[in-house]
Amino acid sequence: MAIPTETVYGLAARIDLPAAIQSIFTLKERPSFDPLIVHIAELEQLKGLVAEWPPLADALASASWPGPLTLVLPKHPSLNPAITSGLETVGVRMPDHPLTLELIRSTGPLAAPSANKFGHTSPTRAEHVQQEFAREIANGDIIVLDGGPSEVGVESTVIRIASNRIEILRPGGVTADQIKARLAAEGLNTEVETPERNDQRSPGHLEHHYMPRKPLVWSLDETSTQTPLDTTAIGRRLGLPAAAKATVIVLNEDPRLAARELYHLFREADCSTADFIIVRLPRSRKDGLWSAITDRLKRAAQLQWPLQRSDHIP
Ligand code: AMP
Ligand code: MG
Repeated sequence: MAIPTETVYGLAARIDLPAAIQSIFTLKERPSFDPLIVHIAELEQLKGLVAEWPPLADALASASWPGPLTLVLPKHPSLNPAITSGLETVGVRMPDHPLTLELIRSTGPLAAPSANKFGHTSPTRAEHVQQEFAREIANGDIIVLDGGPSEVGVESTVIRIASNRIEILRPGGVTADQIKARLAAEGLNTEVETPERNDQRSPGHLEHHYMPRKPLVWSLDETSTQTPLDTTAIGRRLGLPAAAKATVIVLNEDPRLAARELYHLFREADCSTADFIIVRLPRSRKDGLWSAITDRLKRAAQLQWPLQRSDHIP
């Protein structure tokens, strides 16, 4: 079943049904090394999921749940290892969507990755899931619970809690500053680390991810977003013919609105007559939510404009 959450739509299965868990990997064409996040509706449901619930987890969960924060903790021995891709840890969160919370209260915890084919743009509306899985929905293999557009629009922040340290494995809907503020409010002297990109500690968080079907370029050009870009030069760098047409997405200055619209705009651009997509970011990007947005753009894009020294020039 595809379920709405405040981050993106998920493809969900009960954690006690191994065949349903397996079918998530099959339907998404997701490699088995990429672990699923388990969604709960109440703290009671952590029983049988996690082996430990340290005070740090409790402090962060009480500040951010229901909400876009995934906590990676030692897994309970009874939890199906297919969910965690054989890891000794499990990612858990409580999503902030009334329909889904009600559902999980009756089904028990649901394992749910985003409801898209592996590597492709995540869905933030029921119609995106429909586009992504038209055949499977027509066959009755997937049903979609329509809960309206996702409020946050990018995935959850994934953090790992070590003894007195927190590692941000993936930036997302809860910012590093919000996490630090909560720790300070609790009087905790905990280090917050951001490991290198593509760290093995966060399997599945790959260099190419969230990609639209068309080539995407993200532009950090510091001129005003009103200033025209040389789209012909960008098309040439992508190796496209001179007649190739660009569609330009200008992100909202408010990062909450930019995040909410991001994947929908990717999908609109994919459906347009353009040959490639350019995403322009506003000049002022102070709020912490921009780190989640730029993380997704980096992974979704073929290149950054102006070109970086490390870019391959065709
Ligand atoms: P999604 O595909 O958006 O549901 O996100 C799942 C991602 O969460 C995975 O690709 C991992 O990067 C991360 N994740 C889930 N479980 C774990 C875990 N046990 N340890 C580390 N990262 C995890
Ligand atoms: Mg995903």
